[in-house]
Amino acid sequence: MYPEEACGLLLGPAGLGAVGAVRHFRPIDNAARSSRIFQLDPRGFMKAERFADDNGLEVVGVVHSHTHTAAYPSATDIQEAVKPLVPPSWHWLIVSLAWGFPELRSFAVAPSPGHFGSDSASGIAEETVLLTK
Ligand SMILES: [Zn+2]
Repeated sequence: MYPEEACGLLLGPAGLGAVGAVRHFRPIDNAARSSRIFQLDPRGFMKAERFADDNGLEVVGVVHSHTHTAAYPSATDIQEAVKPLVPPSWHWLIVSLAWGFPELRSFAVAPSPGHFGSDSASGIAEETVLLTK
């Protein structure tokens, strides 16, 4: 709960990877209870995966809030994103609450710099977010 970072998982149709639309959002407790980092509660993560399996979905990304900084992956986020168990197809949706209004941006984070082309030395590419009903 604010001012701690909030977090959760994005679920989309199984087997489509990064091109599939998000169909469901599962809020999950921030086990780190921090306003600077988030850690998806392992039980919440397991419940979300079970829900996804039961509904023909899979985890396609993660959402979290930045309560004091811009909607851009932090150094900690990037460390997490490139861990071997985190699929590189995941969307990293970040909501910043630092400016008095919510700013929503989504990113792909690659395991190596230059993955998205020579102008992307950081290994981070911003994605377009389309909000539909
Ligand atoms: Zn972050």
